Amino acid sequence: MKPLTVCAPLPVEARALRGGLRAAGVPETQVRVVRTGYGPARAAAWAAQAAASGQADSGLAVGGVGGALAADLQVGDVVVATQVSDGSRAIECASAPLLAGELRRAGLRVTAGPVVTVDRLVRHGEHATLAAAGAIAVDMESAPLLAAAAGGPAVAVRAISDTPAHPVVSPRIVSGGIAALRSLRLAAPALARWAAALGPRRVLLASPRSFCAGVERAIEIVELALEQYGAPVYVRKQIVHNATVVADLERAGAIFVDELDEVPDGASVVFSAHGVSPEVRDEAARRNLATVDATCPLVAKVHAEARRFASDGYLVALIGHAGHEEVEGTLGEAPASMALVENVGDVGRLRPADSGKVAYLMQTTLSADEAGGIVDAIRDRFPAATGPGSDDICYATTNRQSAVRAIAAESDLVLVAGSANSSNSLRLVETAERAGTKAYLVDGPQDIHLDWLAGVSTIGIAAGASAPPAIVGQIVAALGGLGEVQTKDVVVATETVQFGLPKELRQRAANES
Ligand code: SF4
Repeated sequence: MKPLTVCAPLPVEARALRGGLRAAGVPETQVRVVRTGYGPARAAAWAAQAAASGQADSGLAVGGVGGALAADLQVGDVVVATQVSDGSRAIECASAPLLAGELRRAGLRVTAGPVVTVDRLVRHGEHATLAAAGAIAVDMESAPLLAAAAGGPAVAVRAISDTPAHPVVSPRIVSGGIAALRSLRLAAPALARWAAALGPRRVLLASPRSFCAGVERAIEIVELALEQYGAPVYVRKQIVHNATVVADLERAGAIFVDELDEVPDGASVVFSAHGVSPEVRDEAARRNLATVDATCPLVAKVHAEARRFASDGYLVALIGHAGHEEVEGTLGEAPASMALVENVGDVGRLRPADSGKVAYLMQTTLSADEAGGIVDAIRDRFPAATGPGSDDICYATTNRQSAVRAIAAESDLVLVAGSANSSNSLRLVETAERAGTKAYLVDGPQDIHLDWLAGVSTIGIAAGASAPPAIVGQIVAALGGLGEVQTKDVVVATETVQFGLPKELRQRAANES
């Protein structure tokens, strides 16, 4: 395999990059730093020669210092270009989120965004014009250099040496240059990992994936509440367990709180998809808070079963994970008649008043394999034990686990889109691993370690029920920046489930129309 060529326009930039690679033990057979010369004319001349010799066929990187255009960039920050342009061409750097994540994990302050290449030093007052066109940083070589990649993998890393407040022609340029070169040296080893991850790939997409009907409904409820009540609308706990969803709704005016005592009197509050205990509902009623209930109807069904079994005199064993909001809400329905069972060992600790009156229920997002083993243990100990009328593990959980099992069998690696506190996403990682395939949970492409991808030719992608579909698109696009990607949907089920909105919102919408 050819080494990756890293273009460094200036000798000091080349020295910084080589120093960083040497310190990380990266041999020149893997990454070769070449001095390409200062300014767009020398860059274009080098690119023409590189394109003719096929030097950039398998990927090309640019590393150097650059000027900040965005106001929040500081000297020593690193910019990873999502696109470089110079007015006559625009080159996409689709793998930028992967490299940016890698550099952040290396301890650098990193921003990914468009970089513009200009043909002379930016003069005082010109920064704002360039920034208004969308670029966050400026240089004099990246666009002509990366043209040599001819649509293949390309990245540009610019460490900030000057800012609009402290431009190139200022006494601070020496200290700015030193800070930038230090960052460039620290960034160099990540380019070696980017090089090792390059290559064409097959991507298998688990289907169904991403939002279930309960999550779609919960998000719509917050959006409608914002529309009907006006911002801010308070939401008790994360509406669904996903960082992107929560951040988007926060931008729209939602305020997420842990408990009702953080909600001011007279405010509106939404209960999350995971459900709440009667105690929380009572407190909201006592305080006259306007409430909207986004509890998933399938979680509400488990609550109803808990109430029914408890009132019939059963000890209810709730199979689930301690501390999960859904489990806390369900246990709150009949605390004196319920016991949490997290594993087979807990079954031995159940103490029913009547061993003929034991029932079991489940958290909706459990792994079917794991829960099945616990049910067997309950039935072994209490042969008359009774369960729910229909499965508590919901259709969305079951389908996503079947889909991840199907792709794991054919994949070298499985990536599961989802947040670390998402139970159903974590179960997808476990399901893939049980099928013998290494699997990782990622909130987005920025969380993918380039090391995971080295030597991997088939990647399976699944997404938890709370992960937005767009995240999967972002992951596929970022992988496409490392080489050609062929995608295939692996469909194990088709979902048509839809849930209606709660009456509070329907009534208000009807009154307003
Ligand atoms: S995962 Fe299942 S229980 Fe949870 S919100 Fe979605 S449909 Fe409802």
